[in-house]
Amino acid sequence: MKTEIALIEALRQDHALTEAEYEALLSQRTAEGAALLRRYAREAKEAVYGDAVYTRGLIEISNICKNDCYYCGIRRGNPHADRYRLTPEEILSCADEGYALGFRTFVLQGGEDPWFTDERLCALVFAIKEKHPDCAVTLSMGERSRESYARLRQAGADRYLLRHETADEAHYGRLHPPEMSFQNRMRCLYDLRDLGYQVGAGFMVGSPFQTNGTLAKDLKFIETFRPDMCGIGPFIPQKDTPFGREPAGTPELTLYLLSVIRLIVPHILLPATTALGTIHPRGREMGIEAGANVVMPNLSPVSVRKKYALYDNKICTGDESAQCKDCLALRMKSVGARLVTDRGDVKK
Ligand code: SAH
Repeated sequence: MKTEIALIEALRQDHALTEAEYEALLSQRTAEGAALLRRYAREAKEAVYGDAVYTRGLIEISNICKNDCYYCGIRRGNPHADRYRLTPEEILSCADEGYALGFRTFVLQGGEDPWFTDERLCALVFAIKEKHPDCAVTLSMGERSRESYARLRQAGADRYLLRHETADEAHYGRLHPPEMSFQNRMRCLYDLRDLGYQVGAGFMVGSPFQTNGTLAKDLKFIETFRPDMCGIGPFIPQKDTPFGREPAGTPELTLYLLSVIRLIVPHILLPATTALGTIHPRGREMGIEAGANVVMPNLSPVSVRKKYALYDNKICTGDESAQCKDCLALRMKSVGARLVTDRGDVKK
């Protein structure tokens, strides 16, 4: 098998490795290899996006969820979660506030809250698009039927974020209760793509039972599915979940994977996530240096920020939207990047 450095050179050339090679790359991971990957990933990103880092305004619309994912703090089985749901008026006013701050793309994210029927969610998407036709609306509301995704698309939704969580079916089964399925998650992603959404997939780094073998499958999936965006961040335990005592993912592995994914799909949108900023004070800056080109500042009302607790110790739960944006702009500047608030479409 090739050495780490030889595999990195091959990846830079071909934008692809075999699954066995991805696994070998990860199992030989060194700081030296990470530095080389970082350099190549940064070159690849700058060739497509220059120094621009795109922003998406994140609005966490509900922490009510019918699912019971073992890793997630807002799972239905967590009796300690302090539940909330924003009203359509509150969501619209978050978008208005974001618009005034220059944001031209909003992500509505939430648990799988049954209150958000197609009718209600379509009306909300339509209202945002009607008021701000120059904005892209992204949904991240979990698994729905093809019919539902089709209706939301018709109502004006442009993009959909649905992390695949893991591309290994057995691993998927260890992260989720039996009523959830890997097949349905994948079905959703293919339906979304088919319906003309820009699609975001992704996974947690360091989730329980993850191995270099399961990660190699994630990388092969990204290489073949070629999502427009890939959200990856470290797993961070939330104390009231079944995985509450498991160790968090590391910044080193997360950054390494960001660089690898940038080389696999040079034009991909790659967020430096809040979770990465949570496990390391310079996590998001280091994410940008490793090849990320998107940040998602929080536009949720400060009154609910702490309640959208997917994991413990989440950052930015006390800041007003404007502060979040200014803070991120400074952080990006510190690593030679420029925060851009336009729609930030993928450059294919
Ligand atoms: N209900 C939506 C949104 C989920 S929250 C959906 O199913 O897509 C967004 C992402 O947060 C999840 O996809 C998951 O990858 C991540 N997440 C959940 N719990 C986490 C934890 N404990 N640590 C890190 N990331 C977590």
